[in-house]
Amino acid sequence: MTQPVSHVVTRPGRKHGDTDVQIPVAQDLATVPGIPLREADLSFYSRVYPQETQNIEKAADRQWVWTVYPPEVLEHRKRHDEVNEPLVDAAAVSGDLEPTGTPTGEDITELIRLKARELGFGEVGFTKYDRRHTYTSKKRWVKFDHAICVALEQDYVQTQSLPSMDAEFAHFGTYEIEGALLLDLADYIRSLGYHAQIHSPNDNSAAYIPMFVAAGLGQLGANGQLLSPHFGSRARLAMITTEAPVTYDEAVDYGIHQFCQVCQVCVNRCPGRALVRDKVWWRGVEKNKLIYERCRPVMARYDGCAVCMKVCPIQRFGMPAVMEHYVATGEVLGKGTHLLEGYTFLERGYFGPGELPQFDRQFFEIPHGRNEDWLFQQFKEKLMNEGLPSEEDAVTFAKQVRSILVKGNSTIGDE
Ligand code: SF4
Ligand code: SF4
Repeated sequence: MTQPVSHVVTRPGRKHGDTDVQIPVAQDLATVPGIPLREADLSFYSRVYPQETQNIEKAADRQWVWTVYPPEVLEHRKRHDEVNEPLVDAAAVSGDLEPTGTPTGEDITELIRLKARELGFGEVGFTKYDRRHTYTSKKRWVKFDHAICVALEQDYVQTQSLPSMDAEFAHFGTYEIEGALLLDLADYIRSLGYHAQIHSPNDNSAAYIPMFVAAGLGQLGANGQLLSPHFGSRARLAMITTEAPVTYDEAVDYGIHQFCQVCQVCVNRCPGRALVRDKVWWRGVEKNKLIYERCRPVMARYDGCAVCMKVCPIQRFGMPAVMEHYVATGEVLGKGTHLLEGYTFLERGYFGPGELPQFDRQFFEIPHGRNEDWLFQQFKEKLMNEGLPSEEDAVTFAKQVRSILVKGNSTIGDE
C-alpha cells in the first residue's frame, strides 16, 4: 500500500561525477534528524564514565581470537597487519606535521569535499569533533576541533559472499586502501595551509559513528553499523581533524531509526543472537545495543561473520531503492527472500530465511575484560577451587601481571 511521504532527502550520487539521488522518507518512518539524543545524559556519561576503546577494554578477547582463527584467516590477518602498520604509524603522528601551503582564511569545505570525492571516498561530511565520544587513551592526542568524516565503499560483490575469506579480503583490503588515501587527503589539506590529523580506521580516537550521523552521512542501523545512503554498512569509516575554516553539515532523518524497527532482518538472521529487537537508552542515545559477548565468538570462528551486514537491505540494494519500495508498498525490499536473507555459514552449510545455526553454551565462553582482568579472574577461580597457591604459582602469577602492565595497552585494533 502506498505510504504518504514526509520529506525527500537529496544526496550526492554514489561516485564523483554521478548525479544527485533523491530518497523519499515515508511519513511513518520520520523521527528526528540523526538519532534521538539526551544531551545532558551524553555529557554526564562522557564526564563520569568516559569510554575507552575496545582494543584496551576488551583486550583479553581481542588476544584470544588469534588462538581460534582458522589457518587461512591467521595468515591473512598477519599479512594485513604488516601492510597496515606503516599506515597506522603515519596517522598517529600526522597531526604534528606542519602545513606546506599558505592559508587564505577562506572557507575550504567544498575544496576538501571535492578532493575527497575525487580520491574515491563515497561519503564526505563535516561536523564538530565531539570530544564526548573520545576514548580516554586518546583524549590528549586529538588536536583540532573540526572533523572531516569520510567513508570508503567496500566491494559489493565480494561482500555478498559473507561470511567468507573473499569478503574478508574486501574488508581488510578496503582499510588498507583507505589508510593510503587518508595520507593523500591530509597532504592536500596541508597544501592549503592547515594542519590535518588522521584518525585511522584501525586506531580509532573515538566512537566515529555519532559524528558521521551528525555530519548527515547516514543513521545508525539495528546492526550497530552506520547505514549510509549508497552502500549501507559497507562504508568503512575514518576521520581527519583540522583547524581549517569549514562549514558543518547537518544531521539528516533518512527514516532509518524507525525503518529498522519495521525491518529487523539483521536481528532475525544473526547467528549469534547478538542483536536486539528493542531500542534502549544507552549513554544518552536511543539505539539497538549489540551484545558484544555473543557476537565476538561467532566473528572469530566464522570468517568475521558480518551476516548482519550481508542481509541488510540498505547494504544490498541501497537506500534510494529500499525507501522508494517502502513508499510504494509499505514493505521491506527483499525481506523473507533467499536472495537477501540466505547465507552459507562455512562448514555448517546453507541457512535460508527462518533458519539459524545453533551453538552450545560453551561456544560463547570467551575471556572478558582487559588482559590483567582476565588473569585475575582465573586466579580468583583457582583460589576458590584449589585454595592458596604454591609460592611458585603466586610468583608466576605476579610475573604475568607485571609483564602485562610493563607492556602497556595498545589502542590499535584488529578491524
Ligand atoms: S557479526 Fe555475526 S554474530 Fe555478530 S552481530 Fe553480526 S550477524 Fe551477529
Ligand atoms: S537489516 Fe534492517 S533492521 Fe538491520 S540494520 Fe539493516 S535496515 Fe536496519
